[in-house]
Amino acid sequence: MTKYQQPKEALLIIDMLNDFVLEGAPLEVPDTRKVIPDIKGEIERARAEGRPVIYICDAHEIDDKEFSKFGWPSHAVKGTRGAEVVDELKPEEGDIVIEKTTYSGFYNTKLDETLKNLGVDSLRLTGCVTHICIMFTASDAVLRGYKVTVIEDGVAGLAEEDHKAALRIMKNVMGVKIEA
Ligand code: ZN
Repeated sequence: MTKYQQPKEALLIIDMLNDFVLEGAPLEVPDTRKVIPDIKGEIERARAEGRPVIYICDAHEIDDKEFSKFGWPSHAVKGTRGAEVVDELKPEEGDIVIEKTTYSGFYNTKLDETLKNLGVDSLRLTGCVTHICIMFTASDAVLRGYKVTVIEDGVAGLAEEDHKAALRIMKNVMGVKIEA
């Protein structure tokens, strides 16, 4: 894989899957439907500028212990339609898809290695849920030395107070840039 000479920013699209986005989905996050246009714009710009577009996707075994451990309903089971990226934001050739099984895109995945191979030093985060997978991925990224920007109109929360708190914590505690 080519190492880039210039510092490079990758776009991450986290958990924009049918099981989080569609009406009536098992882990429906209604606000995800509002952020689709912004994420679409981010994806188009990144592809046009040759920046890596990386989808981070929950992909659970049918009896994954995450469900009982944290009390989540079954969701994003590998091989099901629910685990697929929503139609509006489908990965294209050249994009990267990385499966995860918990809140952080870095935990037990090849994300860090993939970013290093691409010469990436900065991340733009989009997707859901702001105080869960966005925040835990941001934390792991910051601790690994990446510069992190969260696109405020490109991330969706559940309760407004959790969404706001997560943005505040990422900004004030992790040094994440919150881009309006
Ligand atoms: Zn999950």
